Amino acid sequence: MNREELKLIKEKALEDHIPIIMDDTLEVIEKTLSNNKPKRILEIGAAVGYSAICFTEYLAEGGTIETIERDEERIAEAKVNFKRAEVADKVILHEGDAVEILPTLNSKFDMVFIDAAKGKYPFFLKEALRMLNDDGIIFADNILYKGYVMSDYNKHKQRTAVRNLREYIKETTENPNLETEILEVGDGLAISRLKK
Ligand code: SAH
Ligand code: MG
Repeated sequence: MNREELKLIKEKALEDHIPIIMDDTLEVIEKTLSNNKPKRILEIGAAVGYSAICFTEYLAEGGTIETIERDEERIAEAKVNFKRAEVADKVILHEGDAVEILPTLNSKFDMVFIDAAKGKYPFFLKEALRMLNDDGIIFADNILYKGYVMSDYNKHKQRTAVRNLREYIKETTENPNLETEILEVGDGLAISRLKK
């Protein structure tokens, strides 16, 4: 991976107000990845490719990341960025809506990173669980959504998002097959592992 390019990609994304993963959230995920060295990662929500590029660093030999993005401008930029960062051979970009693309995927993944439309998190969870390897792990970013999720304030326009994020937390914490932690890093990070 080309670190100089990664730095420039991050700076431009921040300038353009692309909601890329926050540094403290990334640090937590990277720690887990460096211990586990996944062979296959699935990301839902590529934006301009920043987090996917970061994750390539932790892939096992010959490993790949599949990532999904529906915004055409961001897709175009992500493609350029994967080349610039010299990771294009490790990343497969699926172009379109994850709600349509996920049901067409049938591979197994060691790690799933959910970072897209908050109103769809329960659906993304269902699809992630379907494709998760036995020792797999699911991360969900923005799970506390600026604190709305844990507050009783329920009148803003983000109501649907908040309801679905709460549903995600409920499902992952009540599922007897999962061990879930909710961390207050960045905008909130849920980490769920399949129990042995
Ligand atoms: N993971 C990226 C940031 C993703 S931001 C990083 O940290 O660098 C969330 C992205 O998800 C946006 O670019 C948005 O266009 C995309 N997105 C939201 N809902 C989606 C959906 N249903 N299908 C595909 N992409 C989606
Ligand atoms: Mg995010």
